[in-house]
Amino acid sequence: MPLRIDRRQLEGKTMQVAGELAAEELATGFNDPLITFASPLAYDLELEEQPQGILMQGTLSITLSCVCGRCLKTFAHPIELPDFAALAEYEGEEAMIQEGDFADLTPYLREDIYLGLPTNPLCRPECRGLARKAKARDLRLEVPPSDGSSPWGALDQLKL
Ligand SMILES: [Zn+2]
Repeated sequence: MPLRIDRRQLEGKTMQVAGELAAEELATGFNDPLITFASPLAYDLELEEQPQGILMQGTLSITLSCVCGRCLKTFAHPIELPDFAALAEYEGEEAMIQEGDFADLTPYLREDIYLGLPTNPLCRPECRGLARKAKARDLRLEVPPSDGSSPWGALDQLKL
């Protein structure tokens, strides 16, 4: 459901709104092969009418499904914006979309989530990736042959 507000209900007071935006609504026009929206966008906001527009303040949260840029593993990446704030202006270039008394605040939520997306998703900050892992394996293969002190050597001795 888009976040649409009846401006007549907001006149001169604040209003609490909480709900979810469907993942498909966020994904429209979004094209990043490494990121998909794995949950709806949850919002919990206080709206306040101001002379220039509607001030939105509150929390946004969503869980992404990302592909690690280094090891290609898919992992869940939660995003939480506890201090989301935006001013939806009545007029001007950045003006909100209005239909009669209704204002559509969805684009503002979408924009801030887009800004919060990881630019280079990693499954964990220290992920060493595929290439390095392969290299580590090669190094292990080059370990010199056992001198009898390895666990295998000890097993051999037990058998005797
Ligand atoms: Zn990784």
